[in-house]
Amino acid sequence: MSRQEAELARRIEGKARRLGFDLVGIVPATPPQTTGHYRAWLEKGYHGEMAYLARPAAIAGRGDPALLLPGVQSVVVVAANYYPPPPSADLQDPSRGVLARYAWGDDYHDLLVPRLRQLGSLVNAASAAYVDTGPLLERELAARAGLGFIGKNTSLIHPRLGSWLFLGELLLTRAVATRHPPPVQGTCGRCTRCLDACPTGALVAPYTLDARRCLSYLTIELKGPIPREMRPLLGNRIFGCDICQEVCPWNRRFARPTAEPAFQPRPESVAPRLLELIALDDDGFRQRFQKSAVRRAKRSGLLRNVAVALGNWGAPEAVPALVQAMHDAGALVRGHAAWALGRIATPDARQALAQALPAEPDEWVRQEIQQAL
Ligand code: SF4
Ligand code: SF4
Repeated sequence: MSRQEAELARRIEGKARRLGFDLVGIVPATPPQTTGHYRAWLEKGYHGEMAYLARPAAIAGRGDPALLLPGVQSVVVVAANYYPPPPSADLQDPSRGVLARYAWGDDYHDLLVPRLRQLGSLVNAASAAYVDTGPLLERELAARAGLGFIGKNTSLIHPRLGSWLFLGELLLTRAVATRHPPPVQGTCGRCTRCLDACPTGALVAPYTLDARRCLSYLTIELKGPIPREMRPLLGNRIFGCDICQEVCPWNRRFARPTAEPAFQPRPESVAPRLLELIALDDDGFRQRFQKSAVRRAKRSGLLRNVAVALGNWGAPEAVPALVQAMHDAGALVRGHAAWALGRIATPDARQALAQALPAEPDEWVRQEIQQAL
């Protein structure tokens, strides 16, 4: 390691900290060791409909960072704590929806990618910035860079910060000295709380997530209908799921609220009323979530989830809004509204279903209505 490389590493770490990153590590851009694990995960179909994860280029890129940035020599790995202060509203209230905590504030991509690029501008070399780009590559890189260990819930856990962390990577075509945060030891030991608490059994084994059963996948990545048998398991979770992090003792003991202004909770994203959300039209959705990661679910995906949560709430007062949703332009919304009306099953709900059936043009929605009746 030359003095120049060590000096550059010191400057990168200092700048990353000034940019607001809580943890910084630098490692050589050697291929990761878990590509085999990743391939086996894909072969089992655990990625569900996320076909982009199984494309040959995606697999190759995870196995060789040089395919992402030719000539890459070093990777700077950063982590930003996003843990928000305690919620102002009751997350257990079934008339309200629960969003994953990472979506309570501003969209982290909009904030962290520009910051990583700023960090890259410090180095006279080609660079590429990534945030949240893959389930295994970035966590393994983060662990190699000394940012923590990978827990049985598949999160990267830092033994003094917990796992409420956004990860980012900056690839550089320049050699930089290896650098780790001060070492702190941690492991899962014999704990299995996350596996025991997962409502869907998505953690099929320690360190192995079947995304097809995970509420994060079902409420965000999945574009079509939510499998019927999974719908009751959503409860009031309408965008992502935090349960396997909430129960983790490392988070319970060490998580501290973030100081980052952009990650402070927006009141409209913390336990919003389901009846407000189901009434959102396209403009209303855009306005409400224009700076939020919730945009990823799109209006039809969010309202699909909200309809399921209303069905799980089961309150007769949700019936008028669900009847209105049966007139939505999107079949996805109508079909899940039908399911919810079937769960509530008041005479009004059943009458609305019976009236909707003859005029329903979509075959899948017709099936949903018939099963709901
Ligand atoms: Fe299970 Fe929720 Fe964790 Fe997914 S995010 S593995 S559904 S607890
Ligand atoms: Fe590991 Fe327990 Fe945390 Fe799961 S809940 S990640 S097993 S420490």
